[in-house]
Amino acid sequence: MPHVLTAAELPVAELLRRADDWRTRLQANPTPPVQPRAALIALLFYEPSTRTRAAFEQASVLLGYHPLVITAEASSVAKGESLHDTVRTLCAQGVRAIVMRHPQAGAPQAAAQVATAPILNAGDGAHEHPTQAMLDLYTLWRHFGMPDPATRWLTGRKVAIVGDIRHSRVARSNLTLLTQAGAEVWLCAPPTLMPDAPLPNAMLTHDADAAVANADVVMALRLQTERMQQGLLPSLNAYRRDYQINAERLRRAKPECIVMHPGPIQRGIEIDDAVADGAQSRILEQVRNGVYVRAATLAYALGE
Ligand code: ASP
Repeated sequence: MPHVLTAAELPVAELLRRADDWRTRLQANPTPPVQPRAALIALLFYEPSTRTRAAFEQASVLLGYHPLVITAEASSVAKGESLHDTVRTLCAQGVRAIVMRHPQAGAPQAAAQVATAPILNAGDGAHEHPTQAMLDLYTLWRHFGMPDPATRWLTGRKVAIVGDIRHSRVARSNLTLLTQAGAEVWLCAPPTLMPDAPLPNAMLTHDADAAVANADVVMALRLQTERMQQGLLPSLNAYRRDYQINAERLRRAKPECIVMHPGPIQRGIEIDDAVADGAQSRILEQVRNGVYVRAATLAYALGE
């Protein structure tokens, strides 16, 4: 029973292939017939989510399971139940897997200690978001012509991740998968939004123009104000000027550079409309790929 807690433990090559099978199947028939089973997948969401939750719900349905969505406000968590007790309770009811989002880094690991069903981390604090990194990698894999995933197929490619690196679980999980595939990863943020602990294998910079220069891929990140303890940004206007991914800044990248964003986007802050909706944007493709990757990952965790 494999848990899916961090990006490092993902069977990347297998998931790329499985995700692509889902893509082929769903493109041939977006509403395929499924054999419903009398079994639940619990989606335990202690933090807001749109894309991740919808994709895991759809993945559950595609595999024939009923998604049971539980949000913190509407559960016994609001009555003071501990995470361990909630997880034990769901397992006692026979859920086949628990997809979990939590504001606390390490919460899915804690859940996995008592769970008798696989735990899938759908984002824990500023720690990890493995399936987001997996869908980003899948998006790049398709973009670069589906090279042999057993090779370091991103060698020679520069990926610039720009924004609130400090609070970004997406940046952390992506760093693992991108460097594993051979990419040169630049992490760019203002000094107050850089992590305290060093991030291995990355170029760190406060200069967004240098990060974007000659990049093959630019990934913009949202300011995670919900995780900011104090005013880490003296001025939003200065942030826009220095870090926003807009047409002018993007001209420094390679002409064929693509732009990604895990969403939700805050238009006019970390990215402007022209880039978010422009020809180089892959944002909605990432969303679509999220369904294929979640179906692949859920099936893998279920041993199917
Ligand atoms: N949706 C992503 C996450 O849950 C990115 C974000 O919220 O900014 O980490």
